[in-house]
Amino acid sequence: MSPHLKIAVFDGDGIGPEIMTPTLALLEQVTQGIATLDFTHLPAGAGHYRDHGDALPQSSLDAARASDAILLSAMGLPSVRYEDGTEITPQIDLRIALDLYAGVRPVRIVPGQPSPLKITEPVDFVLIRESTEGLFHTLGKGLVTEDYAEETLRITRATSHKLFAFAFRMAARRKALGKGPGRVTLVDKANVFRAFAYMRRLFDEAALGHPDIATDHAYVDAMALFMVTRPQAWDVMVTENMFGDILSDLGAGIMGGLGLAPSADIGDDNAVFQPCHGSAPDIAGQGIANPLAMILSGAMMLDWLAERHEMPALAAAGARLDAAVWQVVSTGTALTRDIGGTATTQDAANAVKSAL
Ligand code: ATP
Ligand code: MG
Repeated sequence: MSPHLKIAVFDGDGIGPEIMTPTLALLEQVTQGIATLDFTHLPAGAGHYRDHGDALPQSSLDAARASDAILLSAMGLPSVRYEDGTEITPQIDLRIALDLYAGVRPVRIVPGQPSPLKITEPVDFVLIRESTEGLFHTLGKGLVTEDYAEETLRITRATSHKLFAFAFRMAARRKALGKGPGRVTLVDKANVFRAFAYMRRLFDEAALGHPDIATDHAYVDAMALFMVTRPQAWDVMVTENMFGDILSDLGAGIMGGLGLAPSADIGDDNAVFQPCHGSAPDIAGQGIANPLAMILSGAMMLDWLAERHEMPALAAAGARLDAAVWQVVSTGTALTRDIGGTATTQDAANAVKSAL
């Protein structure tokens, strides 16, 4: 009998349900005989706020907390806002409530992919963005007077310690899988800010415990250039919250669009897997959304669950799903409009199913 895993599912707003449905079907397909995924659909999002006055009900948060992993499509609608005018972002509330400190953004380019970069070698690196402190520390609490405004950059030993341990584990895992040479690059601005010099010191301390993994440092401005001029050169990158926010959009940009960019937000006790893109209300309901970033996020979930529960067969299932998506991209079959094709969401999902 295969083990049961409790998966909390947030179908979200806009194109959310359209990309979630085929993803769940593919996850069920690849895990058959390995694990039983018990999906629980939980209400949250801008639509739920509009209809019920609550963007992230406590019961949904509790159920998500009690799950083995969380899948989220996209949340938010331009027409629905909180009374103070701010956007409805339960996905960020989840990150804070569950202390998901490591934002993982894989960046890949395969031959044939509609990337704006003219490169022939494949690109495969992972950006890890610290997601709870850094320049977001004073988020919503920054000081604003008539004469000046101030926000704080905060780097802590405790979070950095966990973040770097995670980055080194990922580099070791990628090395074992033949995906990378085993290297972690800290992206900072240690030449100008003392907080980043401190972060660099903590990083170098962490590196001492991982002699099998190479390390180096890069300034964030230089890295923005390198991601465009030599994106093949990187394995695992780790950086502060705001730098990671910006570099992850750059990463999605060189991949040829948000429709191919998956992500994971990982903590000690749980993790949320979701595409980098938003709810795309402009194309919602038309059946033309690209499901690939959502499917890749699902594959990342299987890999994370596999490591956590020591289930190598589940990691293999995740790798198969991941490979099937990249095969669809590289052969150019069933590409949706956002990446230069004419396929529907269902066509793209069917192509992944065939590739499996
Ligand atoms: P958020 O603030 O939630 O990040 P956003 O305003 O950045 O949202 P998205 O919802 O990500 O915007 O959409 C940006 C553009 O990309 C839109 O034109 C949208 O249609 C397109 N887009 C985003 N995701 C997809 C997808 N999966 N498939 C096709 N097009 C997409
Ligand atoms: Mg956005």
